Amino acid sequence: MSEKSTPVHYSVRDGVAVIMLDAPPVNSLSQGMRAAILDAVTLAGSDAAIRGVVLVGAERMFCGGAEIKEFSDGKVAPPDLNDVCAVLEGLNKPVVAAIHGHALGGGMELTLGCHYRVAAPSAKVGFPEVLLGVLPGAGGTQRLPRLIGVARALDMILTGTVISVSRAKADGLIDAVLDGDLLERAIEFTVNAAENPQNMRVAGALPVAADKTTAAQLHEARIEWQKKAPGAKAPQAIVDCIEYAASGASLADGLAFERRKFLDLMNGDQSEALRHLFFAEKAAVKIPGLDADLKARPIAKIGVIGAGTMGGGIAMNFLNAGLPVVLLDIKQEWLDAGIAKISQNYAASVQKGRVTQAEMDARMGLLASSLSYDDVANCDLVIEAVFETMDIKKEVCVRLGKICKPGAIIATNTSTLNVDILANASGRPADFLGMHFFSPAQIMRLLEVVRGAETAPDVLHTVMGLARRIGKIAVVSGVCYGFIGNRMLEGYLREMDFLLMEGASPAQIDSVLESFGMAMGPCRMTDMAGVDVNARVLDEREREGHLPGHPAYRAVVRKLGELGRNGQKNGVGYYRYDGRTPIHDDEVERICIDLATRHNITRRTAIPDEEIRARLLYPLINEGYRILEEGIAYRSGDIDVVWTAGYGFPRLAGGPMHLAQKIGERRIRDRIAEFASVTGDPHGFWDPAPLLTRNAAEQA
Ligand code: NAD
Repeated sequence: MSEKSTPVHYSVRDGVAVIMLDAPPVNSLSQGMRAAILDAVTLAGSDAAIRGVVLVGAERMFCGGAEIKEFSDGKVAPPDLNDVCAVLEGLNKPVVAAIHGHALGGGMELTLGCHYRVAAPSAKVGFPEVLLGVLPGAGGTQRLPRLIGVARALDMILTGTVISVSRAKADGLIDAVLDGDLLERAIEFTVNAAENPQNMRVAGALPVAADKTTAAQLHEARIEWQKKAPGAKAPQAIVDCIEYAASGASLADGLAFERRKFLDLMNGDQSEALRHLFFAEKAAVKIPGLDADLKARPIAKIGVIGAGTMGGGIAMNFLNAGLPVVLLDIKQEWLDAGIAKISQNYAASVQKGRVTQAEMDARMGLLASSLSYDDVANCDLVIEAVFETMDIKKEVCVRLGKICKPGAIIATNTSTLNVDILANASGRPADFLGMHFFSPAQIMRLLEVVRGAETAPDVLHTVMGLARRIGKIAVVSGVCYGFIGNRMLEGYLREMDFLLMEGASPAQIDSVLESFGMAMGPCRMTDMAGVDVNARVLDEREREGHLPGHPAYRAVVRKLGELGRNGQKNGVGYYRYDGRTPIHDDEVERICIDLATRHNITRRTAIPDEEIRARLLYPLINEGYRILEEGIAYRSGDIDVVWTAGYGFPRLAGGPMHLAQKIGERRIRDRIAEFASVTGDPHGFWDPAPLLTRNAAEQA
């Protein structure tokens, strides 16, 4: 059992059996690992010379949890983790889990089967299963409330948060925090425990401490999670399981109940979608064709050009990560306003207790401001976030190309302009790329990294690594209008405006999309982003001859823009606003009726919700197929990451491309054809993407 190829090493020290999990990178609990632990524990149990057992992880951590890939099999191959925990728990000698690094999910459940849990001071523990749409399915929901009570168990399992060992010790989850060599100290602890068998705590044999507040706690948790995650099944199933444990049921019954709930979730669509996103986010950072031993360029100092909304937010990302930033603008007053805004943002975070005053001071201390390009000459990365006008941006890129030190990376935050034109303007297209942040840039996790025609592989590699350093989810996009996200948004918003002219109300459209799971319906979203911003982009595209010829294309947003109904910022847009609350506005209905008359659009008294959902979502999905076929996105999972991380698309649906698979490509193609037939579609709005058509044909 001690050969290197097995996932578990067994050795004996001071009469204590040491069972070491060794399956890099995270010692996950694959079928092979579970079987090997079971064998080792059985061996230790049957050897009378063994006084106790220590379970410990090799290398980086104790255990990262289940082997998620096994979930797709629909069932768990024996032995399951419950079998392992039952044998551990039933051993008549102390079993001690010695935790370093992380113990997560199934890894934590394994420790709950042990009689003691000891940990290195830096270790972290948690139950992140809910993030994958499942629940701890090997006793977590039954043993944890027995150890730490219902309220704390609910909090830990429902939030999926990873907590420090000091917190876990205070909760009574960890028995001892051990300094020094963890294994040595854990062996000493085990010897001591063997000599004091009266102290041994078997989690599964404890009663759940329930009192008259317990029922209320469970009820509140249910309501809270219905609000926080509407429609999500896992949080409700978690409450069911903990409620069952608190009802006084035996451990055996509780485990059987939990297992049924776990299997339901594991085999359900929601968990499938969340697991898809888990793997898609991991895959998105991998760039096909890049040399494995490519070196990243060192990044120690950042320049940001333009101290406006985006420039300030972008700067904060780097300050938060401890990187010095030089913020540059052309006028002192704009620079001052930008710095003041950053300072206000931090002060608000201090007030909310998210950042300490000392942290704020340290971050502001890393920020320098300047009116002179000379001050960004020695930066390793310079990101421009000036006005969205080609001539201004070109001029800025020309200057950066001249002044930046050799090897510096130059990036543009443009949302709509051609990155290759700007790259060429800089005179160093190999050092150039797009870094498309989303607003508010210090908060939104998505970063579209736009790979220009000549962007050097090491530049791309460096920026992907840097994105991780500042906590962003980065997805690579090729160069095209709107990149991945905004390009797909076009058809979605196009249909929003057409439906309004056909007789739907903003409230109906938003409510349909919000019931589907979008964080915000499209009318509210446009009001928040700014009707004027949308209208301006459309005007600019029209000037360039890039708008579809349909006279009513985006007519509502353009009319609202013309009337100065700019959205939330001035209290009127698709809605009227009372503070931030949107209220129906008859005036908008009148505008839509006028536009419909002018453009010969037939109004209907009722538009079915299903039609609204399909009219908005199918063009978006259709464009996703084009983006995939053109190679703008490397994989369909990348598109799903963009939409879930940047556009509020429901994670429970897995992203638009995952959803398309669930709906069925034939069904989507057929519905698109139906929509085309209603109008005859002279502008080709409903032309199906060739890839969608081919996939649908293959399904026939
Ligand atoms: P903004 O108007 O708030 O800020 C632009 C800043 O650039 C201003 O402070 C201006 O003084 C400064 N500036 C203009 N010309 C300059 C020059 N030659 N040199 C130095 N500074 C100059 O605009 P914003 O909303 O921050 O947008 C900036 C960029 O970010 C645009 O390219 C925009 O498309 C892009 N973007 C915006 C959003 C958004 O939601 N606002 C989202 C993604 C990307």
